[in-house]
Amino acid sequence: MRFQHETLPQRVGFTPGDAAAAVEAEVKRLRGRRVMVIASTAEADLAGRVTADVPVVLRHEEVVMHVPVAAAERARAAAATHEADVLVCVGGGSTTGLAKAVALTSGLPIVAVPTTYAGSEATSVWGLTERARKTTGTDPRVLPRAIVYDATLTLSLPVAMSVASALNALAHCVDSMWAPRTDPIDQALAGEGIRALAAGLPALVAEPTALAGREQVLYGAYLSAVAFSSAGSGLHHKICHVLGGAYNLPHAQTHAVVLPYVLAFNAAAAPEAEHRIAEAFGAASAHDGLNRLRGAVNAPRALRDHGLAEADIDDAAHAILGSVPANNPRPVTLLDLRRILRAAWQGADPLTLEKDGEEN
Ligand code: NAD
Repeated sequence: MRFQHETLPQRVGFTPGDAAAAVEAEVKRLRGRRVMVIASTAEADLAGRVTADVPVVLRHEEVVMHVPVAAAERARAAAATHEADVLVCVGGGSTTGLAKAVALTSGLPIVAVPTTYAGSEATSVWGLTERARKTTGTDPRVLPRAIVYDATLTLSLPVAMSVASALNALAHCVDSMWAPRTDPIDQALAGEGIRALAAGLPALVAEPTALAGREQVLYGAYLSAVAFSSAGSGLHHKICHVLGGAYNLPHAQTHAVVLPYVLAFNAAAAPEAEHRIAEAFGAASAHDGLNRLRGAVNAPRALRDHGLAEADIDDAAHAILGSVPANNPRPVTLLDLRRILRAAWQGADPLTLEKDGEEN
């Protein structure tokens, strides 16, 4: 066994019902005196409660999905004008993403309080969008210094969004099994992430106002992001990255729809990963496990329901081709990408794609 794994420096607390006290403690630990709170208007009340005990100099509410550069620049200017010394972000991946954009140029420390299962808080990956192109990069400055997980903050996340967001986390796990820098630690984290998500998500859907399912999902989401941050973006993330940036598709739903198609495409060529995923689901195969979960939680099924036009499939396949990881378990042609995208656009049975691929 020969590999190198980098563990990212970050304090992680699971404090159900106690986010305000935990945020106060983290800001004190960072000696913060001038806190900039980043939270969208929709999460303003939540953020107000969570940051009630810290010295706030600015509440910044302009949060836009995929972090447009212009919005990032306005947030950076606001942080500088108010001489902020700590950023506290309360919200989903879009909100964390904006805090990261500010940290990227200012070096300000972030305390992240996630309210979805996106997992951005546990990665050193930033993303910015300009003229329909999403650019991402990795920088230690954007890794939040601390994460405050409080599952009670996710109780208000509607069930459909919770399902999509949790399947986004599941996609981090599955893709981490074969992503460019994957290692045995990533695979162990991803396996436990799949187990937690597969147990927690049906419980969440059955009883959305209870904490038990949501806590499991939040735990799984954290593990998924740690694995993803270390393993890097595999084929699944490369596809979703282009779709999100170029066609402004909703992030979580896009991941939720595309995942079974990438799994069907790669599984036979990655037997060890397939076995691990199946084992984590407690299913006969990775496909069966994912399919069963998707059925149980009424998962999003087709990209055409989420804003992708049929006419864009060809261009999207071309745009993705150049970024396919060289070590993907099986080679990927333009035709393969067209098939994957068309099947995901229609919501076709993923296994028909596997068969089509064999005929290629
Ligand atoms: P989001 O942050 O855009 O939130 C989706 C919606 O949910 C918004 O309308 C928001 O107001 C609402 N919401 C959030 N929390 C809520 C709550 N508790 N109750 C009710 N409503 C709530 O979506 P997301 O899926 O969390 O994040 C997507 C973004 O995160 C994308 O831009 C993606 O690229 C980024 N992301 C980055 C990384 C990374 O490592 N850098 C990882 C995952 C996602």
